Amino acid sequence: MKDNRITSGTVRDGKPRKYFTMSFDDGVTQDRRVTQICRDHNFYGVTFFINTGLFGANWPDVGPSQFGRDDVTHIRFTEDEIRTGIYDGFDVQVHTLHHPCLVWYDDQPEKLREEVGGDADNIKRIFGYAPVGMSWPGSELNASETTIKKIIELTDIRYSRCAARATHDFSLPEQFMLWYPSCSLSESCTDELAEQFLKLKPDRDAVFYVWNHAYELDAFDTYGRLERLIKRMSGAEDVICVSNTEFYELFKDEIPAY
Ligand SMILES: [Zn+2]
Repeated sequence: MKDNRITSGTVRDGKPRKYFTMSFDDGVTQDRRVTQICRDHNFYGVTFFINTGLFGANWPDVGPSQFGRDDVTHIRFTEDEIRTGIYDGFDVQVHTLHHPCLVWYDDQPEKLREEVGGDADNIKRIFGYAPVGMSWPGSELNASETTIKKIIELTDIRYSRCAARATHDFSLPEQFMLWYPSCSLSESCTDELAEQFLKLKPDRDAVFYVWNHAYELDAFDTYGRLERLIKRMSGAEDVICVSNTEFYELFKDEIPAY
């Protein structure tokens, strides 16, 4: 099976480069439209973080409570749907089995191992590769220093994307287990940041990291913004599009996990 984690084949050689990466959380049915837009532009610099303990789950409260919208669904794919190839060619990584508040398990390491490592085990079973990355369920605010250290001790996970704060710049993460993205696709500054990134003449490595949940594209009608962004980044000669995991693999010797 092809290793979906590694997409660009880039090698580090000391030359400063510009990297673009995206991610989407939760494994919801709107990912189908997102992956189609990516495929249309031959863009694979994106990672999907999924909850394999919640296959087929419907969370009807998300649309009304977050956006006041009954028509914005939050329904996860079933395992059978995923096995039809929705994520073929894309990097899939951990978002825990059941999306809990992980800090609850700081004194129950076996539960923490199960939530994080169990999701990784399922992803390996379905996709054929062992995950090294995750995104924090409910954001990094639901994790403590103990949570982070225990995950490193008990599992193979070495990076985790944050959500509570965005950098609005192109700086590399200082520690991979607290990887702050540049912005969310739902932020209107995305286009302006893309413009800045395209103009940037880097004297050091730079990364533009845009994250989202695909159901937010329904809520804010940002499919056009996504398509524009992917077109611009994949069309720029000096921008390298990488999955989150490929970025981690390229920089793991220089940036600590924690
Ligand atoms: Zn989530």
